Amino acid sequence: MRAVTVLGGGIVGLTLARELRRRGLEVELLDSRSVGTGATGAATGILTPPQHTRTPFYQLRTRAWQMWPEYAAALSAESGIDVGYLRCGAIDIRERTIRNPQRELRKLRDSGGRVEVLTRDQIRQLLPDLARSPEAGLRVEMEARIDPLATIEALRRSCHGAGVNIRENLGPIRIEPIGAGGITLVATGSIQLSQPSEQRSVILAAGWESVSAALAVAPSPLPLEPVPGEAITLDLAAPAHLVHFNLLREGFRDPSGNRSIYSWIPAPGGASWLGNSVASGHSVASGDRVASGDRVERTVGDRSSAAVEPTTEGREELVEVARSIFGEDVESRITGHRAGIRPKATRHGGPLLGRWPGRPQLWVATGHYRAGLLIGPATATMVVDSMLDGSPIPEEFQLPG
Ligand SMILES: Cc1cc2nc3c(=O)[nH]c(=O)nc-3n(C[C@H](O)[C@H](O)[C@H](O)COP(=O)(O)OP(=O)(O)OC[C@H]3O[C@@H](n4cnc5c(N)ncnc54)[C@H](O)[C@@H]3O)c2cc1C
Repeated sequence: MRAVTVLGGGIVGLTLARELRRRGLEVELLDSRSVGTGATGAATGILTPPQHTRTPFYQLRTRAWQMWPEYAAALSAESGIDVGYLRCGAIDIRERTIRNPQRELRKLRDSGGRVEVLTRDQIRQLLPDLARSPEAGLRVEMEARIDPLATIEALRRSCHGAGVNIRENLGPIRIEPIGAGGITLVATGSIQLSQPSEQRSVILAAGWESVSAALAVAPSPLPLEPVPGEAITLDLAAPAHLVHFNLLREGFRDPSGNRSIYSWIPAPGGASWLGNSVASGHSVASGDRVASGDRVERTVGDRSSAAVEPTTEGREELVEVARSIFGEDVESRITGHRAGIRPKATRHGGPLLGRWPGRPQLWVATGHYRAGLLIGPATATMVVDSMLDGSPIPEEFQLPG
């Protein structure tokens, strides 16, 4: 193999392209829109290390967490762009922490940093703008944030500077099977693409849209579920720490305990972001509409290349959440709103990484769900090691045959 075509220019595709080029391969990155217009451009940039290392996924997350300071510095040096890495720590005032802070503290025993229980007065001092007055909370040292858009731009420049051929706005590209084990790339219109061969592999890294790109290649569809998420920008001064909290909304079922968790995030430039962990009521099965209300309509089979638009419903949710912690007048402080679809692997274990069963020229790297910014660089190293040196990828991450 001398060359690789990467499909998709989110955090995953760009980190792969950079890594492959650094190892001396000829790399082409193709994006149906422009890079960073998928989930990565909507993300809020939180980097959270895991609480233990008992599974390959948590080991990957630990490695990723450890990589980031150096990775951020390298990217900034290569591109001249500060990616906004800030180990700001977090204040956790989720319901379960308020109820039993000692239990939550014990879970973070091996986090590698300080964790301390906060009293009501300490929280009031640290977060004077809060309309709530929680009885207890935790301050956790080991959490960080990056600026996702700056990271995308830094990766783009770094790739470009190293000689990656980035081609954007190509419309959706599909992978079709040929013969017993071959593949071909198909674009719309008269766009010419370098075709896979023994010398050129393809990595499918198109986030949630990887499903539609490879619909024709068995085993299909990819075990991936779209999980929409939205975030707003507020012109409220950035908090010194990330702040995690809940809002249990009326008539809102929350069996996972995840859907009511929100974060207030210090945004680069001094403003702040507020985002949901999982958008309310949306966890859409493959084949269903991702859309509802004024949400952009897309289905698995729909090859439309429109970017995901923020929704009225999403804004209402986030306004209600913002009111619950900043008071009634906060709506006028909203200066931005964005949305994306997280690619969630529907089988246990973590992201989908590795060679496509029965198609030796095709590799996949998707399913990063809520942690793509954290683990993107680490998954790129894992996949490239496997492509070039045959290093094994944990079975948990591989595509089911
Ligand atoms: C609101 C929100 C907040 C989030 N917050 C965080 C966070 O704080 N921390 C964290 O770690 N993660 C977070 N995430 C999750 C994170 O954004 C994702 O895990 C990650 O961005 C996935 O990256 P990706 O490169 O796989 O996909 P994407 O970023 O979606 O990129 C896919 C790219 O592929 C392109 N494409 C699509 N189809 C094709 C095709 N057929 N051919 C070629 N190109 C194609 C698209 O145009 C796009 O550029 C958040 C997500 C959302 C929505």
